[in-house]
Amino acid sequence: MSFIARSFYNGADGVFIAGCRLNECSYITHGNYYALNMTLLFKKIMEYLGISPERVHIEFMTSSDAQHFVETVNDFTDKIRLLGPLGEREGISDEEIKAKLSKLINLIPYIKIVERDRFKLKINNPEEWDKIFTIEHVRELFDTIPSYWIDPEKCAACTICAQRCPVDAIEGGRNKIHVIDQDKCIKCGTCLLVCPTKFSAVKKLVGEPVPPPLAEEKRIKVR
Ligand code: SF4
Ligand code: SF4
Repeated sequence: MSFIARSFYNGADGVFIAGCRLNECSYITHGNYYALNMTLLFKKIMEYLGISPERVHIEFMTSSDAQHFVETVNDFTDKIRLLGPLGEREGISDEEIKAKLSKLINLIPYIKIVERDRFKLKINNPEEWDKIFTIEHVRELFDTIPSYWIDPEKCAACTICAQRCPVDAIEGGRNKIHVIDQDKCIKCGTCLLVCPTKFSAVKKLVGEPVPPPLAEEKRIKVR
């Protein structure tokens, strides 16, 4: 999903994904089902964000399907030409599209954790694909995205969360109350798990605003 999102962020008007035919993988893996399910979800997310889902297409074929490959790529290219540059048909400015995609790119690790069971589904019938991820499902997914916040009254400045955060989203340092940079946070929940129980300073917030960060000059931990 991040490959697709980053392609659009970097200026692509359409993204074409090709994989081996379903159930015909020589290595007995399920990678093409994962790719299919992730693409189906991504298309629904595009719809939710007001971007035409037609800008993404997935097709399954073998190395002997040259004719099929050429026809599918030509059809897709014609479709993208008709849709025009990203955002034009949608009536969304470049800046707005980039802002939406940038937020989405940050959320992809979280979305992949939440949807991991659905990504394993092996559904061959294309008529069933639209039922895997509905727009209501995507709406609920976005409505329930958590935020993580460090309670400044409880933070003991032990630095554990900052050391374990995979994206360096926690500002801290020795003897400084730690603060999560909400723009960098990918919602992995690690800080919540690693904050020692005796401090329990990290809170998971769903459906409520994140309190503003503590001012820099108030972050010194008085022991
Ligand atoms: S949830 Fe916590 S550990 Fe995970 S990215 Fe956000 S701040 Fe870092
Ligand atoms: S692990 Fe908990 S107590 Fe330690 S710095 Fe992070 S939020 Fe503060």
